Amino acid sequence: MVNHDHTPNYKAMARRLDRWRPVPTEVLRDVVVRRGLCLWGLWPEEEPDWDDCAPSDRRLAAHLCAGCPVIDQCLELDLRTAGACTTGVWGATCEDDRRALHRVWRRRRHRHQGTGQQGGATP
Ligand code: SF4
Repeated sequence: MVNHDHTPNYKAMARRLDRWRPVPTEVLRDVVVRRGLCLWGLWPEEEPDWDDCAPSDRRLAAHLCAGCPVIDQCLELDLRTAGACTTGVWGATCEDDRRALHRVWRRRRHRHQGTGQQGGATP
């Protein structure tokens, strides 16, 4: 889901997350805490020194979260709870991308609010 200039397609990412829209935040949090690899100390290597990490390091983010079964749930949760103030790696994305995604995601959610569209995902 990356454009030719390597910028992620934020619109497509926001669209992909629509399925989690009806899921309550507490449910998402519970699923991420129970199944997220990093929360079980299962990142592929030792946690990096965050002071040395670029907020735009997409490859590091993708590498750290590779194989996690709750990447989209984690991303959705972070967009809801941290939003534009997000830091570090969540949902296999770097913070610069999540800030940019958050603007697109928020606009999309506002547009669909009250339309009654349901995603029907199972966390
Ligand atoms: S997607 Fe990444 S940050 Fe989120 S729970 Fe999984 S490993 Fe942790």
